[in-house]
Amino acid sequence: MYDFDRYFRTQELVSRKVFQKFGERSIRFLDPNILVAAGKIRKHFGRPVIINNWHYNGYNQQRGLRANTDSLVYEKTINGILYLSPHLLGKGIDFEIIGLDHKEVAEEILKNSDKFEEIKRMENTALTPGYTHVDTLDFGYSKIQIFG
Ligand SMILES: [Zn+2]
Repeated sequence: MYDFDRYFRTQELVSRKVFQKFGERSIRFLDPNILVAAGKIRKHFGRPVIINNWHYNGYNQQRGLRANTDSLVYEKTINGILYLSPHLLGKGIDFEIIGLDHKEVAEEILKNSDKFEEIKRMENTALTPGYTHVDTLDFGYSKIQIFG
């Protein structure tokens, strides 16, 4: 359906718990636009893009969809901390590109923003050491908004 399917597995967008319950159907919880964006990023850079890697014994499992049992959400909830992240809505990904610094990745996406019309926001790279956050949360701006 998207280039996403060519380059990624569903596990890369959800945590182990979500995948254990919903399997391949987990992908339904993701915004189709973030899947398109991930596919475009992979194609544009022509290098492996790492989102979640828990399914091959990696540490990351909260870089795509975050569910209520995932620790980043769970800990904020039990501590009464408000948390509204596009990751909760299946609209955000954190990723790294093998061989590229995350600031280079961000600059390249911004420079080519006309190619990535699904991407609406990017987190300030000073706050995202080693990864890049993009999301499809649309507040009606015509350019990619930098936040954080
Ligand atoms: Zn993020």
